Amino acid sequence: MTVTTVAAYAAPAPKAPLERTTVPRRPVGEHDVLIDIKFAGICHSDIHQARDGWSEGIFPMVPGHEIAGIVAEVGTGVTKFAVGDRVGVGCMVDSCRECENCRAGLEQYCANGNIGTYNALDKQGEPTYGGYSTHIVVDENYTLRIPEGIALDEAAPLLCAGITTYSPLAHWNAGPGKKVAIVGLGGLGHMGVKIAHAMGADVTVLSQSLRKQEDGLKLGADHYYATSDPKTFEELRGTLDLIVSTVSAPLPLDSYLSLLKTDGAMINVGAPEEPVSLNLFSVIAGRKTLAGSGIGGIRETQEMLDFCAQHGLGAEIEVIGAEQINEAYERVVSSDVRYRFVIDTATI
Ligand code: NAP
Ligand code: ZN
Repeated sequence: MTVTTVAAYAAPAPKAPLERTTVPRRPVGEHDVLIDIKFAGICHSDIHQARDGWSEGIFPMVPGHEIAGIVAEVGTGVTKFAVGDRVGVGCMVDSCRECENCRAGLEQYCANGNIGTYNALDKQGEPTYGGYSTHIVVDENYTLRIPEGIALDEAAPLLCAGITTYSPLAHWNAGPGKKVAIVGLGGLGHMGVKIAHAMGADVTVLSQSLRKQEDGLKLGADHYYATSDPKTFEELRGTLDLIVSTVSAPLPLDSYLSLLKTDGAMINVGAPEEPVSLNLFSVIAGRKTLAGSGIGGIRETQEMLDFCAQHGLGAEIEVIGAEQINEAYERVVSSDVRYRFVIDTATI
């Protein structure tokens, strides 16, 4: 089967509603797999980019970097996958493969820039189009194996929300004896809670309100606090080893840093559109670390998928038809998502 033009949902211009269209897919090359996409998660990053919130995007834009599907065809040189395999694609589809970071399995930090699954140009200079589509052609080296035991719809969000929280939790040693807080109980946050709990950490959710408290505790949190209540910041002062913020808007960092113990670390994976300010004494006092983290490398993404399968973790999802994408975007922006929208691509 050769697919050259496929159905997709695209934003024709910045901030425009997404609509049905078609996009080209390259022929299956020697090391490529053609994936029959079954499900695509909606990440808040899709919304930032479709609305030109980060920088000028490439339009029409087909978002979607939480892709789960089945291999439909393989190139002649493919060794890792066969037709019928359950596979996923995350936020990147290529990188230079030669720089220090790529060689270390940190392709997400490729010194020459990784190639995004959408809103990027590939090595031939052609725009990439993401997962809100029926098929995609991806190099086997940037394709992940979805283990048996995780349903494809619940696996899709792991390709971004899962790895983006797993990577900092693993890097900063979340585990037994560590007090870890996850800020924001949305798509990333709910996976952060599940993964930190499975790693054995004592997990606190810091949410704007107590509206989702019951869910948070079911997901694996040990404690749940509302950040709208000033008492939260008094009670938790100096108690946490690690904070992972998944918040999509600027936060008052000084208040959050005050919750860390000496040598504690706050890691930002949330990517607000506006800059934030910081009083440096918030990190000087207590030798604290303020850091960021971007998705994860290919090897680590596979490790995360295997970890999730081993611990029976998938995302909490609401499956929607493609015609509901614009409505789902509004609900994500107003924090009304429990906890990830996943598009059934059969409706595209
Ligand atoms: P999401 O589902 O919208 O979750 C974000 C959560 O942040 C919301 O559910 C809400 O949680 C909280 N929040 C929202 N606005 C807030 C505000 N004004 N003040 C305080 N809390 C607020 O989004 P997501 O898909 O998880 O993505 C979260 C962020 O991570 C986005 O900026 C996205 O672009 C970014 N991201 C980064 C990477 C990376 O590699 N670093 C990868 C993927 C996504 P509560 O209702 O519990 O307060
Ligand atoms: Zn994402």
